[in-house]
Amino acid sequence: MYDRATRHQALSLVDAGMSLNQVSHRTGISRAAIRAWTVRVEPLPGVSAECPVSDGRLTPEVPPSTYSYLLGLYLGDGCISHVGKGVHSMRIACADAWPGLIDSCAEALSGVMPTSKVGRTQCKGCTSVGSYSKHWPCLFPQHGPGPKHTRSIELTTWQQELVDTHPWPLLRGLIHSDGARVTNWTTRRLAAGVRRYDYPRYFFSNKSADIRRLYTATLDSLGVEWKQANALNVSVARRASVALMDEHIGAKY
Ligand SMILES: [Zn+2]
Repeated sequence: MYDRATRHQALSLVDAGMSLNQVSHRTGISRAAIRAWTVRVEPLPGVSAECPVSDGRLTPEVPPSTYSYLLGLYLGDGCISHVGKGVHSMRIACADAWPGLIDSCAEALSGVMPTSKVGRTQCKGCTSVGSYSKHWPCLFPQHGPGPKHTRSIELTTWQQELVDTHPWPLLRGLIHSDGARVTNWTTRRLAAGVRRYDYPRYFFSNKSADIRRLYTATLDSLGVEWKQANALNVSVARRASVALMDEHIGAKY
């Protein structure tokens, strides 16, 4: 089976005006396959895909840093639900205020589940980005009934190992869904005039104590200092720690 990029590349040559024979000659892909893709470029949602988790680990086809980012998004604002016949929908609510993050979310979903089409549904103030597959619960075994803060959220061994080797994408996903980079500022009067001082910091807020613990444990593993700002909020404000977060995460876009 050809991967998604190959299928799209062949179709873009057809779109550019080349005949099926020419594209076939150029790419080495059969004319019949290319013609089939012009009708349906995506395989049926999630049905033909092999399970991306086998032998208790993620298969090498799934890019681990993309998975780690998607895990952060899922734990922040994601929801998996059964839609029938073993097929599950994975939906992530993305605020309309950050259009770039909606695109990043869509890319992460198709990166982890390339055989499923990613759809966008407009809701009030947010866009629900989602895709269908039989394997979303295999990829995210934290799936369960009710809101995440009402149940225990623990990573499996393979997930924890993956997060240990790709910690920054997880933090980026968590900040992109349930966090923010904010700047407080103050002015000081100096001989040269009034000068403004900015104090950037990162906040992360989640109702689930388990998810907050995962966030702070990952910060600890990277030497990022944090403080519990209040019951639900974790703050990163020390200059060196903010600099590290800026290098790997930055402001939302
Ligand atoms: Zn599976």
